Amino acid sequence: MSAVFVRVALDHPLPTLFDYRYDLAPEPAPGLLVRVPFGRRDVVGMICEVTGRSDVPAEKLRAVDAICDVCAPLADEWRALAAFAADYYQRGLGEVALPALPQALRDASRWARLFAPEECYRLLAAGRAALPDALPARASALRRLAEALAAQPTLAAADARALHPKASATLDDWQSKGWVALETVDDTTGAVQPPALTDDALLPRLTHEQQEAVDAITAAHRFAPFLLHGVTGSGKTEVYLHALAGLLHARPDAQALVLVPEINLTPQFEAAFRTRFAALPDGAIVTMHSGLAEGERARNWIAAHTGRARIVLGTRLAILASLPKLSLIVVDEEHDPAYKQQEGLRYSARDLAIYRAKQLGIPVVLGSATPSLESWWQAEQGRYTRLSLTRRAVAEAVLPAVKLVDLEEEHRRGRASIDGLSGPLVAALKGRLERGEQSLVFLNRRGYAPILSCDACGWVAGCPRCSAYVVLHKPERSLRCHHCGWESRIPKSCPDCGNVDIAPMGRGTQRVEETLASAVPGARVLRIDADSTRRKGSAQALFSDVHAGEVDILVGTQMIAKGHDFQRVTLVGVLNADTALFSHDFRASERLFAQLMQVSGRAGRSGLPGEVMIQTRYPRHALYHALGRHDYVGFARSTLAERRDAHLPPFVYQALLRAEGRTLEAALAFLAQAAAVFATLPGADRVTVYDAVPLTIVKVFNVHRAQLLLECASRAALQTALRAWQPALRELRGVLRWAVEVDPLDI
Ligand code: ADP
Ligand code: ZN
Ligand code: ZN
Repeated sequence: MSAVFVRVALDHPLPTLFDYRYDLAPEPAPGLLVRVPFGRRDVVGMICEVTGRSDVPAEKLRAVDAICDVCAPLADEWRALAAFAADYYQRGLGEVALPALPQALRDASRWARLFAPEECYRLLAAGRAALPDALPARASALRRLAEALAAQPTLAAADARALHPKASATLDDWQSKGWVALETVDDTTGAVQPPALTDDALLPRLTHEQQEAVDAITAAHRFAPFLLHGVTGSGKTEVYLHALAGLLHARPDAQALVLVPEINLTPQFEAAFRTRFAALPDGAIVTMHSGLAEGERARNWIAAHTGRARIVLGTRLAILASLPKLSLIVVDEEHDPAYKQQEGLRYSARDLAIYRAKQLGIPVVLGSATPSLESWWQAEQGRYTRLSLTRRAVAEAVLPAVKLVDLEEEHRRGRASIDGLSGPLVAALKGRLERGEQSLVFLNRRGYAPILSCDACGWVAGCPRCSAYVVLHKPERSLRCHHCGWESRIPKSCPDCGNVDIAPMGRGTQRVEETLASAVPGARVLRIDADSTRRKGSAQALFSDVHAGEVDILVGTQMIAKGHDFQRVTLVGVLNADTALFSHDFRASERLFAQLMQVSGRAGRSGLPGEVMIQTRYPRHALYHALGRHDYVGFARSTLAERRDAHLPPFVYQALLRAEGRTLEAALAFLAQAAAVFATLPGADRVTVYDAVPLTIVKVFNVHRAQLLLECASRAALQTALRAWQPALRELRGVLRWAVEVDPLDI
């Protein structure tokens, strides 16, 4: 028998495959996971090629240790997707493919257990009758177990046993009494009966516009990118649900992928999917996001990989899930910057969604009230089909009236404001409270105050590790650096001059929360931001309080602005929006417009008239006027014209080389060398290379950061040059880290 070799992708910065001898019994195949020795460790890799020869000298070749034959090989399409992402984002294949797998799968010792048929408990009729009386009154943990069993048809054994230390023994006991049965679910069968979907009579009647959108998506059987441009509250979710229903009806094995920008939006969607597709078998709807426990993440990944999961709902990382029967992709709020991964492989999940749909020849729906200018431009050129929802879906609901509160004018006229809350806003908040309606106050800054300073000597509290001020956090009684996490107690006096009158300047959500409590007496104020929701599941609990009407005023950051379908909010107040108007980042106004449109869209969704109040010093700014007219189209047209004149994306393509050094000089010197090398590459003359510059916040965690911007009118030419640059970059020394970022969002 002739020798067999395999080329394996490993999670390693070298962009090569690694050769191994293969002398195990099972037939090797591309896409199979293997355990191989690497240096002194054992690592998990993926076979990319099976071959009869290797250029590595025989004595240096090592052999594959083990093969994960319980897991079907990753499909050709999936490997092609990983290869595309690696190539496009200038990484090695292994650096993309392996981190895309759940952690548990990258640990060979867990393979057998992961793919063992899953066990679950089912509550039997005898148990349903006997259990409530059989439990002692104080056995609350056991009661929870009984409730969990009663709540769903089956409960995963692993989950059940995790509920209580004695759960295992108790379940054994209940099993012997004939109250529960232990069953195994066969996870490996992809075949699922076509679901009897919910009775159409129970569904809301689609508006004419929704119906047209659904029809267009359902009729598409090839690659078809749709841009679903729907104003806030126009019922985009309903369009997705109908498109999914159409697909699941037509194809008993088809899978769909639905992406949302934020973990906090998954419960709302998950609930909608579970209600609408209640007839789907257990495990047919799964979520994928970084908030899942490791075991659950692995289970859901496997469900997707085996085809048991029909709908996968996830955040950006789900775009790299293995979905052998993928037939439809939905990207909700496609404009959201959260789709861009900001570390490691800096991919855009939205852009990969387009690639994946094209590769598979399937429809992809990008939904937004404020599409990214990149996507809008594609639609303008006819590359994406535009589907428009111009009206709110609920018959009586109209878009909210936008009012600008001119802060200069308020000041000139001597009208009182309360710590940054203008008179008109406070009056409007009080009115809502009297009428029993909810309000939302939005400001994109968490903490109490962004600056703590001394009037006497000019001292400002800064981070010792970063070139940034630290933020005052009052409830936590600390100063915190939002860049590196450094934390200290709040000084009682100025450390430089001893002055005891050090004062917070500016305001964040905590301070507004405090002010609201006194400015609107009797209001129940709730703050939702990254600080108030640090514990797992707490965001969900807080949002439930809002939906249940237990909150009068919700104050928060962009966490409260996105996608939530608040039924009783009729007033939205916006503070501090002006800061983004004059940013040096050319995308700042696009982002601000989208954010304000999103947050405004939370008002008046159920039919009560909604109102938005924006406090500003620039009431004549064009952005606010477009917002007041709800005129995304006009805003997009004028902003695109500016971008075209200024030669900015989407009219040119950009990439960054970022470098991190012990000193700024080291980072800049590295970039200068890199630029010099770049100039010698073939095709470099088509690319504009700008001077290396420090980042706005140059030092983070004692590391100095700088970047080099490259720009080109042709995506292909830029890609070619970047690829040719890589080997030379790897030769350069002098910095701690460097990375190329393609299509950067923050420049
Ligand atoms: P969007 O995501 O476009 O902002 P949603 O999908 O959250 O909007 O829908 C807004 C509200 O309209 C929801 O409460 C939803 O239940 C309701 N809705 C959607 N479609 C219809 C319809 N055809 N008839 C009545 N209500 C609808
Ligand atoms: Zn001082
Ligand atoms: Zn810091």
